[in-house]
Amino acid sequence: MTTERYWRLKEAGLCACCGEKEPVSGRVYCQSCLDWERLQSRSRRRVYAEIGICTTCGKAAPEKGRKTCRTCINKRIARYGEKRRSAAAAEKAAG
Ligand SMILES: [Zn+2]
Ligand SMILES: [Zn+2]
Repeated sequence: MTTERYWRLKEAGLCACCGEKEPVSGRVYCQSCLDWERLQSRSRRRVYAEIGICTTCGKAAPEKGRKTCRTCINKRIARYGEKRRSAAAAEKAAG
């Protein structure tokens, strides 16, 4: 959203997001845009979990018993290392 568009819509008394509806009093966005924004920011992960898609990327189907997809799990492993890898390695060495 450009600042110019924002101010023009605000001046016109229209929602600065969709530019179609009247904004909620004291706000620059209309009710539906506020709802959407809240959904996007706050409960996005919960919505993703509910509809059965990866809560990280929101694109792929999650792995069985997980909330994230294989790609996101792999990314996470690559970044943080496998969970308890050192413990498993120690066990292997002992046994
Ligand atoms: Zn709107
Ligand atoms: Zn994912």
